[in-house]
Amino acid sequence: MLHIAFFGLGNMGAGMAANLLKAGYKVSVFDLVQAQVDKLCALGASAGDTPADTVKNADIIISMLPAGRHVEQLYFGTADATMGIVARARAGAIFIDCSTIEAQTARSMSSLLKERGHSFVDAPVSGGVAGAAAGTLTFIVGGSAQTVEAVNPVLQAMGKNIFHAGEAGAGQVAKICNNMLLAVLMAGTSEALQLAIDNGIDAAVMSDIMKKSSGNNWTLQTYNPCPGVMENVPSSNQYQGGFMVDLMNKDLGLAMATAATHQSAVPMGSLAQSLYQLHGMQGNGKKDFSSIFQAFRPKG
Ligand code: NAD
Repeated sequence: MLHIAFFGLGNMGAGMAANLLKAGYKVSVFDLVQAQVDKLCALGASAGDTPADTVKNADIIISMLPAGRHVEQLYFGTADATMGIVARARAGAIFIDCSTIEAQTARSMSSLLKERGHSFVDAPVSGGVAGAAAGTLTFIVGGSAQTVEAVNPVLQAMGKNIFHAGEAGAGQVAKICNNMLLAVLMAGTSEALQLAIDNGIDAAVMSDIMKKSSGNNWTLQTYNPCPGVMENVPSSNQYQGGFMVDLMNKDLGLAMATAATHQSAVPMGSLAQSLYQLHGMQGNGKKDFSSIFQAFRPKG
């Protein structure tokens, strides 16, 4: 039986690791938050005391961490490269990083792992917390065709659609293009809904109209930002859980940096970044990103 080590059991990682257990894999887990580790152990995972302990004998190592610096630190340690999990992994282990990070960091980690006899794919995801829990995520993968094929069954246990975007780093580039569009759609949908509300139209009625009209998009279908329109989404739970504004701001920063490399014009993404940065600065960083809806609400 394949042994998978899983790092990062937050909003996304907890559901993903649970689905690997459901699929029958042997899973060892590690997170800085003990309660998250305990949750997965109750489902059948084993817990490593240290990251090194967790990767011992693992065939596949998955990370689902906030940002690139967390992944680099986990892989290579801080000052001493022997402290990271790369130095402790068994020969020929395959590393799958599902976090959303800089494409350049993914490329350089891929080269460093290759030099040490391991393989790597960047495999960021789309589909949100609900998709992670239901095992219906979309994986956007960068790496060699051979490694992508080797990890396919593992990704299938956590997702529904697996796309091979290109060589190492390509998964990250494709992912941030998608998330830049998501930020634009969430801000635009919020603005349109509030315009309707200000003019006496019920938000649920307006959402139904747009879902059957040319304004239809993912935020209306599965993640309505207006409280009370949909059940089981962050907007109906005080914007708790889901995808944090801080993480959306990280992704928009990655999108702007990527745009700068080839002088791509991204005026809509840039405006969405300004909106989300202001929203984050107003104390909303830990809320779900659909809380941008609140920025359009009349105050007082
Ligand atoms: P989160 O903050 O909920 O979870 C991150 C987890 O990593 C936390 O439990 C934290 O304790 C843990 N962690 C941090 N450093 C660690 C380390 N060194 N070792 C082990 N664990 C460590 O974040 P999330 O929402 O699950 O997002 C994770 C990644 O997925 C991010 O890169 C995000 O951009 C991306 N993403 C999130 C969503 C979403 O809807 N939440 C959707 C797609 C992609």
